[in-house]
This record gives sequence, structure tokens and C-alpha cells, in this order.
Amino acid sequence: MGKLNVTILRYLNKEDFRVLTAIEMLMKNHELCPGSLVASVANLKAGGVHKLLKELCKHRLVAYERGKKFDGYRLTNTGYDYLALKALTMRGSIYSFGNQIGIGKESNIYTVSDEEGTQLCLKLHRLGRTCFRNIKNKRDYHGKRKNASWLYLSRISATREFAYMKALYEREFPVPKPIDFSRHCIIMELVKGYPMTQVDCVEDVDQLYDDLMNLIVRLGNAGVIHGDFNEFNIMVTDDAKPILIDFPQMLSTSHPNAQMYFDRDVNGVRDLFKKKYGFESEDYPKFEDLERDDHLDVEVLCSGFTKEMEKDLLDEYHGGSSDDDDDEESSNESDLDTEVNNEETIDNYRKQVELEVKLSEEKVKKEESKNKNSNILK
Ligand code: ADP
Ligand code: MG
Repeated sequence: MGKLNVTILRYLNKEDFRVLTAIEMLMKNHELCPGSLVASVANLKAGGVHKLLKELCKHRLVAYERGKKFDGYRLTNTGYDYLALKALTMRGSIYSFGNQIGIGKESNIYTVSDEEGTQLCLKLHRLGRTCFRNIKNKRDYHGKRKNASWLYLSRISATREFAYMKALYEREFPVPKPIDFSRHCIIMELVKGYPMTQVDCVEDVDQLYDDLMNLIVRLGNAGVIHGDFNEFNIMVTDDAKPILIDFPQMLSTSHPNAQMYFDRDVNGVRDLFKKKYGFESEDYPKFEDLERDDHLDVEVLCSGFTKEMEKDLLDEYHGGSSDDDDDEESSNESDLDTEVNNEETIDNYRKQVELEVKLSEEKVKKEESKNKNSNILK
């Protein structure tokens, strides 16, 4: 799981893209999408779509599964990756692929290059992923849509991370420069340095400790807490400066448990320095000493997130009121298709698919007039 097969990207054509986009749209209100509905939204003949779906299944971009009421198709991780990478490629944010450089707790990290050959970092968010058998027991994030929950969570996780990174970068916090994002993928500056896990000796331990504690305070004064301030998420550059990464779990200093998260970040640094460098200091920041001088938290919250999304995501990261573990299985399934016959919704999806296809064609035309290198994606 998680391997990025970019060769697949080259084999797929516009019709495949159309079908995948249609399924992506339909998964907003379907656990499994019937072939006929996919044909309708993709605006292709039913017979043609079935052949395309068969091929997409073979490449594992979609999966055909048996549901309680009917059978249908769903997008796989790979299929969703494809859609995001295709969009980023079309926009010119990605030109070629490099190597996988990391596997985080909830992500895969790769190097990519843009059209100028600048190396960048691609982060694919992978939240709420479970194999299909476990999904039935998994918390239901939509109140009804189960299979779509990984898709939904991964997407809001990336969106949230991008929004925080942008707000932080604009304020000149030491974070990678955010470049672009689509769905569950973000592109950012590639940090020239190493995560602290790999940094065993530091010339000026005092200084690094101070830099990190000052960073926590500066964040706090701006109204935010990182929430996972550990040696995996702190990178150190060659000139021993820390760069903070990994933001989807960030939270506001106005969060009800803010103090606990703040103290946890601070104590994480203290414990790390003691364990790793034998360094101890009685000088460390306290939550009550914060002096708010900015509203970064409010800015991000207002940048296109609903309260509900916020809650779903923070519950996923920090654990929340997930008392609905034994959810009533079958009662949910009947709700899935409330919008199947809603012609307006289907027509709306159809228009969105057309738009995505149109955008892709414009880009491809532009690409064709350029000379290509072997790594290019179309
Ligand atoms: P996760 O949310 O899964 O923990 P992270 O954002 O922490 O993912 O990234 C995982 C690892 O990938 C990091 O520990 C780091 O080694 C590497 N990494 C992440 N972002 C960058 C970047 N912008 N530049 C260089 N390396 C990075
Ligand atoms: Mg991390």
C-alpha cells in the first residue's frame, strides 16, 4: 500500500479521467456507484463505460464490490492519487517524479520537480485508511458514508495543512513554502536538512532549545499550537536552524484543551533534549504567559472550513467523542442513495466532470507544443 505507480498515469486517456472524476463526484453520496450512474455522470455510453471500468479495475484505480443492496464501483487509494497528481501535473506544479523520501504516520512523502527543474516535496495524506473488511467497524464520519470517509478525511487534512502552512509562511515562520494542493496532495518546498531524529549532535544545544521554545511561544502568541511538536516534525538545516513541518493537527489556543496540547508540545521538547543531548533547563514556556498578538487560528478557520470538518479532523488526530463505534450497520445503508434519482445533483456532477476534462485538454494542448522528456506525464 502507498506505492506510487506513476507509469499508470501515462497509460490513461481522457475517457478514463472522465470516468474516475465521475466516480469521485458520486462518492460524495454513494458508498458504491452503480455503473449506469457512472455512465450518466461521465457522459459516456453505458457499454463504453463498462469496458473502461473493467480496465480501471485491472489497474486497481477503481474496485468493484458487493454491497448490501447492490454492487458498484468505488475509487481506490491509487485512483484518488491519480486524480490529484493529474490535476497538479495539468497545472504545471508537477513536471516529473522523483523518489519516495518518507513514510509518515499518515502520509507518504515524495520528491517531485516543477517545469524549471526545481525539486519540491509532495505529501500524500492518507487518513482513515483501513482495508475494506475493517471499514464496517470504522467510525462513520458522514453519518452515513463509510467508504468515502478516508477520501473525505485525507482531503480535509491536506486542505487544512496547506492553509496553516500558508498562513505561517506569510508570517515568516520557519516552515516550508507551500506551493499547491489538490484533493489529498500538497506540494511544498523541499527542506534542505534532516529531521531531528537523524540529528545526533548539535553544536549549540542551548541555542536550538531556545529556538524551539521561542517557536512554540511565537505560535502560541499568534493563536495556534502545533499539536505534534516532536523530533519527526522538526527538521534541522545545515546551519542548525529548525524548520517546522506537519500541520494538519494544529489547533487554536482557544481550543478547550489548548493548555494540555501546549504543555505536551513543550514537554516533548524538554524530554527530547534530556534524552538525546543530556540537556536540561528550568527555562521553559507556560501557557499562561502567552500574549496573543495575532489571529492565525481564526484566519485559517475562515479560509473555507466548516466547523463540522474541523471537528471531524481533530477527532481523528487527537481522539474525540467517538462513542459511536458500534454503529447501526444496516440502517445507514438505506440512506446512501437518497440522491441517486436527484437529476439536479447528477447534472451538476456531469458539469463538473466536463469542466475538469476541459481544463485537462487545454493543458495537454499546451504540453504538446513543448518538447518532452521521458518522465513527463500527460
Ligand atoms: P506525517 O504527517 O505522516 O507525519 P510529515 O509531514 O511529518 O508526515 O512528513 C514525514 C517525513 O517526511 C518527515 O519526518 C520528513 O522526514 C519528511 N518531510 C516532510 N516534509 C518535508 C519537506 N518539506 N522537505 C523535506 N522532507 C520532508
Ligand atoms: Mg510527521
